[in-house]
Amino acid sequence: ANAPPTIRSILELANETWPQRDYLVYENERVTFRALMLAVQHLAAAMRDTYGIGKGDRVAVIMRNYPQWPVAFLAASSLGAIATPMNSWWTGEELEYGLSFAGVKLAVVDGQIYERVRDQMKNLPDLKHVIIARDKGEEHADPRVSSLESVIGDAHAWAGLDDIGLPDVELLPEDEATIMYTSGTTGKPKGALATHRAVISNMFNSFTCQSRMLLRRGEAIPEPDPNVQRATLLAIPFFHATGAFAILIPSLLRGDKIVSMYKWDAGEALPIIQNERITAVGGVPAIAWQLLEHPERDLYDLSSIEAISYGGAPSAPELVSTIKKRFPDAAPGNGWGMTETCATATLNIGEDYVNRPSSAGAPPGAVELKICDPDGNPMPEGEVGELWCKGPMNCKRYWNRPEATAETFRNGWVVTGDLARLDDEGFLYLVDRAKDMLIRGGENIYCIEVESALYDHPAIMDAAVVGIPHKVLGEEVGAVVQLKPGKTATQDELRAHLSGLLASFKVPVEIQFQDEPLPRNANGKILKPDLRARFTPRA
Ligand code: ATP
Ligand code: MG
Repeated sequence: ANAPPTIRSILELANETWPQRDYLVYENERVTFRALMLAVQHLAAAMRDTYGIGKGDRVAVIMRNYPQWPVAFLAASSLGAIATPMNSWWTGEELEYGLSFAGVKLAVVDGQIYERVRDQMKNLPDLKHVIIARDKGEEHADPRVSSLESVIGDAHAWAGLDDIGLPDVELLPEDEATIMYTSGTTGKPKGALATHRAVISNMFNSFTCQSRMLLRRGEAIPEPDPNVQRATLLAIPFFHATGAFAILIPSLLRGDKIVSMYKWDAGEALPIIQNERITAVGGVPAIAWQLLEHPERDLYDLSSIEAISYGGAPSAPELVSTIKKRFPDAAPGNGWGMTETCATATLNIGEDYVNRPSSAGAPPGAVELKICDPDGNPMPEGEVGELWCKGPMNCKRYWNRPEATAETFRNGWVVTGDLARLDDEGFLYLVDRAKDMLIRGGENIYCIEVESALYDHPAIMDAAVVGIPHKVLGEEVGAVVQLKPGKTATQDELRAHLSGLLASFKVPVEIQFQDEPLPRNANGKILKPDLRARFTPRA
């Protein structure tokens, strides 16, 4: 009970406090906190004894939002290994990069992911073992491949496992717990390395913002009712900082239930919200819009919803008023954070948010924000500059990227790459991203990556990728191309070519053709604002 704060001690506390409560619900699989703990114990023991995993080894977790996701993540981090989640939409090549860059020794994947990485495995000498968590398919001859079911059974069996305790390892708050990948401004994702303390600290930021909002209104902070369980609908992937650090971990500490889906779909979410009495929904602004605008939303009882919150991408100020109109009793919330700040650094919630619908909130007690010029000198109050952020939730470095580390992590500050201003009350307003990147439904898309894939096609002479404003997704991918003289290619052919190289969400929804070269400035850089103006915003 007096263990130093680590992901492992939070798991132990949850298991002691709410053993019989449901922690995870996925279709007909319901996993209590107790069953979760038992599955984690057995997988952690196998990781150590069968797969030779020890402190500091990287263990990848790559799968859809199945109950096995938290089990693998918690087993690795409880053992002192570094849990390294990856985007389950990545192609085989992207996965190969993620696995080799972090020197992953053991990967826990689902059957779909295995099919995508099996051809890559010959290029991954560090990867000693792959455990297929579910959907194993036919028998695999590769001796490196085994199944999770043979270690812990399926989710229905976890409650019946023996209590063998967690493996005995010394774990300290400053030990490294996770590597989370960003999408990468240089074209490659960066792995942000977080300590146990950083992972745990992020969740107090949201708690503090909420309490402060209530105190500002003269309201008492409610005592949590031990008999009432809150429930989060997991509409975003576990593999981003928000899923792992703002949902998976805080739900342990608060005894909340997480309900996950195979694939986000607003129409399928409605009956789940009703039947599981969901209290918190959101993730990214697109998800909130899709729920608010769903034609069937009035057919269901959605009265259990207490909070609709999101972050990760700019959101329209109308989103707040729409939430208040449709769900007058729910608290809207907009949080700002980065992978490098382990998710939530600021949160604008409830009345504070209604009164300042363009703000991402003021920093909570342990977080400091400042706005700097490009040389790192503070700007006068109210002016736009680059946002710097400091707090106990910050990562200290990137994995194996000394230059990027020196640029971003300076004396405890994260230099964010976001342009922003702070008002006289300390509320944060994001203005633009300093880096050139699209965000589609919360997923970052690096233009250069899509452009290089276009250039890979033999008919392409010149290509540029820009965001098309989209009411729900924030942005969609658009491209403008010039074909080589004498060559032909249709929009469908180019899209088919890109689909072979890129995750599907990165493939442009609209490709415009022109005969002359793309407009450029004197430095030869394409004039993207001109190109953006050619596309009609989508709804
Ligand atoms: P990379 O660092 O590889 O370029 P990224 O910064 O796009 O990737 P994340 O760490 O997932 O990847 O996203 C953090 C960024 O998301 C922030 O720096 C900011 O630009 C944007 N963001 C986060 N929250 C908000 C918000 N509430 N409003 C507007 N933008 C936000
Ligand atoms: Mg970033």
